[in-house]
Amino acid sequence: MILVLGKGTTREEIERLKEILRSEGHMVKEIGGVEERVLGIVGKNYREGAYYESLPGVEKAVPVSKPYKLVSRELQPAASVIKVGDVAIGGDRLVVIAGPCGVEGRTATLEIARIVRRHGAVLFRGGAFKPRTSPYAFQGMGEEGLKILREVREETGLGIVTEMTSPGQADLMMKYVDVVQIGARNMQNFELLKSVGRIGKPVLLKRGLSATIEEWLMSAEYILSEGNDQVILCERGIRTFERYTRNTLDLTAVPVIKKLTHLPIIVDPSHATGIREKVSPMARAAIAAGADGLIIEVHTDPDKALSDGPQSLYPEQFEQLMRDLYVIAPVVGKQVDYAYLDKAAVMKPRTGGNKAPATVVYSGVPGSFSHKACLQFFGSEVPLNNCSSFKEVFDLVDSEQAAFGVVPVENSLTGSIHENYDLLLEYDLKIAGEVTLRIKHNLMGLSSARIEELERVYSHPQAFQQCREYLEQNPGWDLIACKDTASAIQRVKESGDPKEAAIGEGAEPISGMAVLKEGIETNPRNFTRFVVISRNGSLPGPNNKSSIIYSVSDKPGALFETLRIFAANDINIVKLESRPIHSRPWEYMFYVDLETDIAEEHNKRIMNELMEKTEFFKFLGSYNKGAQENR
Ligand code: PEP
Ligand code: MN
Repeated sequence: MILVLGKGTTREEIERLKEILRSEGHMVKEIGGVEERVLGIVGKNYREGAYYESLPGVEKAVPVSKPYKLVSRELQPAASVIKVGDVAIGGDRLVVIAGPCGVEGRTATLEIARIVRRHGAVLFRGGAFKPRTSPYAFQGMGEEGLKILREVREETGLGIVTEMTSPGQADLMMKYVDVVQIGARNMQNFELLKSVGRIGKPVLLKRGLSATIEEWLMSAEYILSEGNDQVILCERGIRTFERYTRNTLDLTAVPVIKKLTHLPIIVDPSHATGIREKVSPMARAAIAAGADGLIIEVHTDPDKALSDGPQSLYPEQFEQLMRDLYVIAPVVGKQVDYAYLDKAAVMKPRTGGNKAPATVVYSGVPGSFSHKACLQFFGSEVPLNNCSSFKEVFDLVDSEQAAFGVVPVENSLTGSIHENYDLLLEYDLKIAGEVTLRIKHNLMGLSSARIEELERVYSHPQAFQQCREYLEQNPGWDLIACKDTASAIQRVKESGDPKEAAIGEGAEPISGMAVLKEGIETNPRNFTRFVVISRNGSLPGPNNKSSIIYSVSDKPGALFETLRIFAANDINIVKLESRPIHSRPWEYMFYVDLETDIAEEHNKRIMNELMEKTEFFKFLGSYNKGAQENR
């Protein structure tokens, strides 16, 4: 049952209500909605809705129609994000768990861990208790294996995912493990589910070999009903009549699960296919289908692996897969972050120190693309602040009120955002990173709105430009400019006028709006690049890109002389743009992005040469362009 509380309900009233409900044998879950306060209640003996509505503070009682309650989206509309140390599963960054099927020995396990971390895995998998079909097959190293996993965590910082096969192992799991895996064969081992429900650690719940989605969610419900709501679902293939692959990967489960439950879902293409060559294609498909992450078996010597060798990727295959995912992820609004764990480590010691607070600032409202860029780059764990102009972002970072700022610099269709290029010149700040987002625009309106009846459309001018073709088909609409797309959506929501609509992404924080038409941008290959600015803080990861600004004297060949330096040193120019110098009409500054770390010791000579050939020279920073080449 969902109890919607009255707007003015006080904290004391809520606590009193919870007490009453608990004393009647209900389990009570408070759900922090943006606009509504809701209590989810679950129990064996429900009463009539009218009874609950008579309790003080309750406005409406709505029954949950599904047999699973705590896991259902009806009860909690916002997606759950499960935290494992610094890693967040279900957020904007893809989470890849990798490692061998089983822990077989110390040296090899550590070696695999170092490799998968380098290629972008953020959690490590490896079984110490293996539930094998044959009693004569390798059963796992037991506690010895767990000790090796603990060493992996200590050395690499990767959180540990490992399988628990019996409630008797609960203490060991508490001691050594970060995520407890419930294997497919144990999905309906209810005593085990209850036991992990009480363990208080995140649980990776695999789908049973022949379990329906409803049965799977009922198993998750067992865990939540014991008080543990940190459950990650894992589709790992189901048994069908098809024998070519080990199992049949039911990718439909991904969007179905996303609709039915707020819990995150990851996909295991290794056990689903059982064939090494089929793992990467299905992994790519899983991400395209909307999965929050993957769990993949990787082994340095799969031919000698004690279990699941034929489905384990070679390290090079895993590396290639991660590079592919890096490209695919932004298409579905996500990001692969190679420096995920390193960034978290950098942000940590800052808190409490005397440097700028470890906050990140952006211009716009929550739900805007700039907000999303912050989440994708820094994750939801880092405190974010917003302000109302790009200049303010620069000011706040410059005055050390925020450690980092995130601003857009260019769009693949509409070109550079000149204001920020000028601010980069004006302020003495450095570029510490970059992140690229796919910009998908939807026409958003109230659920009662009809496209044919619209009169006014709100959005940011850039968004109007990016949706030009669609807007030209509707010449009667008044286009009204707003600060950003998220505030445009907010405005329509507040006006409550079905003749109004907004163009924007319609991200989760603004609920209650309907997508009237999806993907109205003229060109779907619409990406915006954001840069991360900071006063001094560089971020981890190999720096493989640099930005500089310079001007040259007004003489023939002066620009050419500078470009020659790049050619002679085999440096690729990825962007070259000129901007007028404000005080000198018809003279220009050149903004150059280079595919190298120009600040590196062995490049000093190049930097000096450039300074000689230029009138004005400013180094904007070296940073990681995200891709993996130079690792
Ligand atoms: C495993 O992850 O190694 C495993 C045994 O998986 P499943 O339970 O999905 O077969
Ligand atoms: Mn396995």
